[in-house]
Amino acid sequence: MAIVPWFDQDYQFFVSEIKSVKEHFPDLHFKIATDNAQLVGKLNFIATFLGYKRTIEDTYFIKIEYPNDYPSTAPVVFETAGKIPHSYHTNPDKTLCLGTNHAIDTIFQENPSTIHFVKEILIPYLFRFSAFSLYKEQPFGELKHGAEGLIDYYKSLFVTDNQYSTIDLLKYIKDKPYRGHLRCPCGSGSRIRNCHGNKMIQMYPNKRSVLRDLDIIIKSEYPNSKRKEKLIFQ
Ligand SMILES: [Zn+2]
Ligand SMILES: [Zn+2]
Repeated sequence: MAIVPWFDQDYQFFVSEIKSVKEHFPDLHFKIATDNAQLVGKLNFIATFLGYKRTIEDTYFIKIEYPNDYPSTAPVVFETAGKIPHSYHTNPDKTLCLGTNHAIDTIFQENPSTIHFVKEILIPYLFRFSAFSLYKEQPFGELKHGAEGLIDYYKSLFVTDNQYSTIDLLKYIKDKPYRGHLRCPCGSGSRIRNCHGNKMIQMYPNKRSVLRDLDIIIKSEYPNSKRKEKLIFQ
């Protein structure tokens, strides 16, 4: 079964992608094969972020790969000049770890396009790495890489300190539809609609990315991400 690649499915959209990339990042170029597209080249930026004292100018060589279902799913990025060590936020498949799947998806879907992706997701990542490598500084509270960082991310979204509650809330989203009258999976004893309901409702539309994050958490060796049985409650 031949899959029609995204750039053939909606040619007008692809033309607008090419135009806007050319306008904003003239050193990045699309490479088109029969069934996939890449955007490769030099990315230069000068950026300042609210709450951080420095303006940073830096240059990276990158390769952006587009998934078949783009723009439903965000692209992935490789850094191709060996500037970013794999010990720094890099996934096992060598793509850059740009954030939690949920955060990337949420930001990307605001305006699913290459320019939005580069400006709002990729450059902030590169900016953080530049601040780290040039000044040994970590602007805007960096997450730890992997399961621990993911759990911290969802703990703050759910406004809880409890990692078990956090994982139980994510598992509920994975397995069940929203039912406001049921007891909240966080264990508070309240009904969902009076407890974590609003937070959960916001996550259902991005359920796919939430499940990808949960999968990483469940498969990880992070201590206690698997519940150590209920001895306390027996
Ligand atoms: Zn990471
Ligand atoms: Zn709750």
